[in-house]
Amino acid sequence: MEIRAIYPGSFDPVTLGHMDIIRRAAGIFDTLVIGVLNNNTKTPLFSVEERVKMLRDVTCDIPNVRVEAFSGLLVEYANQIGARVIVRGLRAITDFEYELQMSQTNKRIDAGVETMFFTSNVEYSYLSSSTVKEVASFGGDISPFVHPAVADRVYTKFGIQK
Ligand code: ADP
Repeated sequence: MEIRAIYPGSFDPVTLGHMDIIRRAAGIFDTLVIGVLNNNTKTPLFSVEERVKMLRDVTCDIPNVRVEAFSGLLVEYANQIGARVIVRGLRAITDFEYELQMSQTNKRIDAGVETMFFTSNVEYSYLSSSTVKEVASFGGDISPFVHPAVADRVYTKFGIQK
């Protein structure tokens, strides 16, 4: 049977840490849908359309990856697209409590959807979209953290010429 997984997140913007999880998960599941959260409560740097476009550009060489925007309840969306697994990344102990709470809540809403955690590669365990934005806003070098096409778009947002 085909196993489809969803990797949800804000991806504002996608980092090399996210990309590492995407490649590893795509190597395990038949299809990996990257679900870009259209979240009204957070004010993102990039619109959901821009985030989807960036993710499609940087994952275009992985044939079993699809990128879609979604809003509302994650488990409902997972059901809608036929995904039985939710993929999340764990960087450090600080991620654990929140991720545990989310996965248990989702399990309570729908026991048919499993959350599976991928531990971050040590190389990226300190990396977050927020730190990338902070470094870029001060004109710092973000090339070790994001794909070059993403770096260009982040600098453009901050009006920085590189
Ligand atoms: P959210 O707002 O849902 O936390 P993010 O885009 O920040 O969205 O993260 C999406 C997922 O990717 C989360 O499971 C997060 O733990 C994971 N993640 C974020 N950064 C990294 C990283 N550097 N290495 C591995 N996983 C990461």
